Amino acid sequence: MDFSLNENQLAYLDTVRKLVKNGITPYILEMEKAHKFPWVIINKAWEMGIINLCIPEAIKGYEVDVISSALIIEELSYGDTGISTSAMCNDLANVVIGQHGTDEQKELFLKPFVEKPLLASFCLTEPNAGSDNSMMTSFIVKKDDGSYVLNGSKCFITNASYASQYTVICKVGKSTSNFMACVVIPVEPVTAREIPDIGQATREINLPTGGKIIIGKPEDKLGQRLSNTASVTFEDVIIQPKQIIGDRRFGFKYIVDVLDYARPMVAAIGLGLAKRALAVTLEYTRERKQFGQRICDLPVARDMITTMWKKVELAELALLKAVCKIKEKADDAGIYASLAKNAAAEAAIFCTTEGLHLHGGYGFTNEYEISKLARDAHIIDIYEGVREVQNMIIGREIV
Ligand SMILES: Cc1cc2nc3c(=O)[nH]c(=O)nc-3n(C[C@H](O)[C@H](O)[C@H](O)COP(=O)(O)OP(=O)(O)OC[C@H]3O[C@@H](n4cnc5c(N)ncnc54)[C@H](O)[C@@H]3O)c2cc1C
Repeated sequence: MDFSLNENQLAYLDTVRKLVKNGITPYILEMEKAHKFPWVIINKAWEMGIINLCIPEAIKGYEVDVISSALIIEELSYGDTGISTSAMCNDLANVVIGQHGTDEQKELFLKPFVEKPLLASFCLTEPNAGSDNSMMTSFIVKKDDGSYVLNGSKCFITNASYASQYTVICKVGKSTSNFMACVVIPVEPVTAREIPDIGQATREINLPTGGKIIIGKPEDKLGQRLSNTASVTFEDVIIQPKQIIGDRRFGFKYIVDVLDYARPMVAAIGLGLAKRALAVTLEYTRERKQFGQRICDLPVARDMITTMWKKVELAELALLKAVCKIKEKADDAGIYASLAKNAAAEAAIFCTTEGLHLHGGYGFTNEYEISKLARDAHIIDIYEGVREVQNMIIGREIV
């Protein structure tokens, strides 16, 4: 196995590093405090071609392989995981269209993302269907004219307030059905110019084809404050057959395919965060002296920094194996996706907790980035499947 990166991958890394170094890191504490949606950075990322990574070559004109995608997301996350979560969410919502959509659907639902900096949402979670998404009650029902009507409510939806397209997983026929469908709902495009900052506002979208979508007030979150998270309610939304991706009974299979792709990308987010926590901790403990020595030279502190480094390296190995498995289309890609996600979450939480501790009292103030990183880290262990769900997947496969 060769760990060296090819020219393309190095070029991507260089591009993202420049964006992070010049456009994110110097302003991140200010930006986070202002809690203002980072449209400017999303626009720049779009111009640089480092979002919408999963869109196939036939639509975009070039393809970003899955290893490069993970490297890009990791590097962007080194700058801020709220921004990378928002950017990566386009892939979370759109990968299913690339995987299971017809050529017409790919053209219709993916091309706009190539033409303009737009955001998408993936709507799976519901108030009573989190880890157990089989309990969802949103559903479509067929009408006499062959179209469908969608009703239901989703919660914790990334990008919801700004999205120009919603990919929705719902039941078919009735709220208790065993079948799930995946439907795509494009809405009037929203760009930085049209909605610079939604703040605490709700958004109501009346669809020209019938029905409406109501976006709740953005969640006031512990961390990842630069990503937008809100509830989405669908009221009598008319769905045409061409808005249904693949077979309208196979939604559950499509969720598995989406998450097998997306979990390593969440691992990349966690890894970028863990690396940043290690970097700021090294910087701080090299400067600060106590007992006549740099903190990083005090044996117990050095031991902790060594453990942080080891967790980062192990998380990176797990991530690389997971993306190689996806690239090879291996049957066991799913358990490596879960392993990578858990390893990255563990590294992120460990490095931010211990990194904050090594900053002493200063780490507990908002002046030091480590306190923000510590707040951001917890979600890595929660979204796209909590730690216990990943363990359930791994356990089920290995016994
Ligand atoms: C910032 C943010 C962004 C998000 N973005 C999206 C998005 O874009 N789209 C989307 O659809 N969803 C999104 N989510 C939702 C997220 O995926 C869910 O919060 C997550 O899957 C957990 O569901 P839950 O919150 O209902 O927790 P629950 O399922 O209620 O779980 C709560 C706790 O119970 C325990 N638990 C649960 N299941 C098990 C089990 N099988 N065994 C043992 N213990 C268990 C765990 O400790 C778990 O943490 C987002 C959430 C947040 C906070």
